[in-house]
Amino acid sequence: MDYSELADVYEKLESTSSKHGKRDILADLLKDTTLTKLEKIVLLVTGRVFPNISNEELGIAAKMMKRAIIKATGFSDKKITEEFKRTGDLGLVAEKLVRSKRQVTLMQKRLTVEKVFESLQKLPSMTGMGSQERKLNIIVELITSAKPKEARYVVRTALGTLRIGVAEGILRDAIAKAFKVDAKNVEHAWNMMPDYGKIVKIAKLKGDDGLKKVRIKVGTSVQVLLCEKAPNLKTAIKKFEHPSLETKYDGARIQIHKDEEKVVLFTRRLEDVTKQFPELVKITRDAVKAKRCILDGEMIGIDKKTGKPLPFQQLSQRIQRKYDIEKMVEEIPIQVNLFDVLYVDGQALLDKPLKERRKILENLVRPVPGKFQFAKQLITKDLKKAEKFYKASLKEGQEGVIVKNLDSKYQPGRRVGYWLKVKPIMEPLDLVIIGAEWGTGKRANWLSSFILACRDTTKSKFLSCGMMGTGLTDEQFKKMTKKLKPLIIEERGLSVKIRPRIVFEIGYEEIQRSPKYESGFALRFPRLIRDRSADKGPDEADTLARLIKLYESQGKIRTLKT
Ligand code: AMP
Repeated sequence: MDYSELADVYEKLESTSSKHGKRDILADLLKDTTLTKLEKIVLLVTGRVFPNISNEELGIAAKMMKRAIIKATGFSDKKITEEFKRTGDLGLVAEKLVRSKRQVTLMQKRLTVEKVFESLQKLPSMTGMGSQERKLNIIVELITSAKPKEARYVVRTALGTLRIGVAEGILRDAIAKAFKVDAKNVEHAWNMMPDYGKIVKIAKLKGDDGLKKVRIKVGTSVQVLLCEKAPNLKTAIKKFEHPSLETKYDGARIQIHKDEEKVVLFTRRLEDVTKQFPELVKITRDAVKAKRCILDGEMIGIDKKTGKPLPFQQLSQRIQRKYDIEKMVEEIPIQVNLFDVLYVDGQALLDKPLKERRKILENLVRPVPGKFQFAKQLITKDLKKAEKFYKASLKEGQEGVIVKNLDSKYQPGRRVGYWLKVKPIMEPLDLVIIGAEWGTGKRANWLSSFILACRDTTKSKFLSCGMMGTGLTDEQFKKMTKKLKPLIIEERGLSVKIRPRIVFEIGYEEIQRSPKYESGFALRFPRLIRDRSADKGPDEADTLARLIKLYESQGKIRTLKT
């Protein structure tokens, strides 16, 4: 197939904005494509030459592309930079310059789809000495053989910016239309095996039946089950007949595939991150009893000194890092909290209820505490117990909880409402501490509950809006006491009044009306995010007006959701 035919389709897709229009153009293309070329064409229309479950990257940057265009067209760096500034698109630059050059040379070679595909596929395997030059020569050869329009798309594909707007859903519908199969079955196959190159062939050869039969496979990433949001804990628990709560860890989803000694790790976006986490590969080999299985969990980074969870940004450094891996293993230890199992020794478990899957998981793994363990779980319908669990999760520095339906199956790739996340989702507030209470027992000499207040600008007063007693470590309680003690202006029993000086950034689950506090509002589950006193004075704390605004916006959110 001539690449120019594909370039014409690209152009049509680029100039069509409607989803249906794009679907129809693609469906016509797929219908007319022979079986041997289908996989390539499907990848190329999504701007790739490798399936998205592959980790291969072409590694062509704009700078190298400019050099290739210079070499292929003979125009100067200055001219190319000028054109690039004008259009912001090296594809268009190449098209224009190839067109100008053509008038001079009239050299005409035929460029085929196979040639473009195979040339680009070679790029990632070129490494080491002189590999940059070899890569450059491949691109130069393609541009030299390209007609102007072809040059536009060759360049964009090599750069990974095709810009023709073929999203996953459009491709799904196009496959359905081209081969007269149900889009739902195409989607099912995609969730089990996210590789449209393979799926399109099944659709053509085996139709709906073939698509329905696509199953998960160890070694091939599976789309993960996703959460929906719940407005609060009470609503979430009421939603299910048999709910369980799990700590919501603030890290990265990790899908672990074990096939005897071979372990492969995928992120939520199905990126293969096995190389980045050699210690997890080892621990999986040692701690998982099954020969073959697929596990689902959340990975967090751990602070070496305190043993507490690290902010996600630090874990993300490990996910992205491709070198000095051993050093990273040392610097940022990880902890995996397993919460599901999708497959074990020949059996897919997706249709089994969570209750059973969790049991299977617990029998499958010998946990290594602090490193490779089960996500904390509480099975209850009792709101009080659930709230305690939720508070404890926040206190540990985790994000909140996920309420799961124990009777539900595992539905890859979907937000189906089987899992509901509950976390303090409101925008944090900067509030002033105006009072506190002395602790008792272990905390006898520390101030342990703090009265939070917002500003009433009309009366230049601070109005209480909540009490914070959780979410602080012993160290923080000590620090706070030291800071607040000199600001005590009145003491009555265990209660103290504090001069409004200290501003804290506070997270919380929601704002409720409450006669208990002067503002008329109370924050539910307030927790300390950080001390803002160094850069914010009490006169810059959040106002009652803002609290009211947030309270009202939250009402709107809730009516939308329930
Ligand atoms: P969000 O990204 O806010 O939609 O929350 C969903 C994500 O929470 C999941 O994709 C997981 O990465 C993460 N998560 C943390 N703890 C759990 C858990 N116990 N069960 C399921 N997902 C969890």
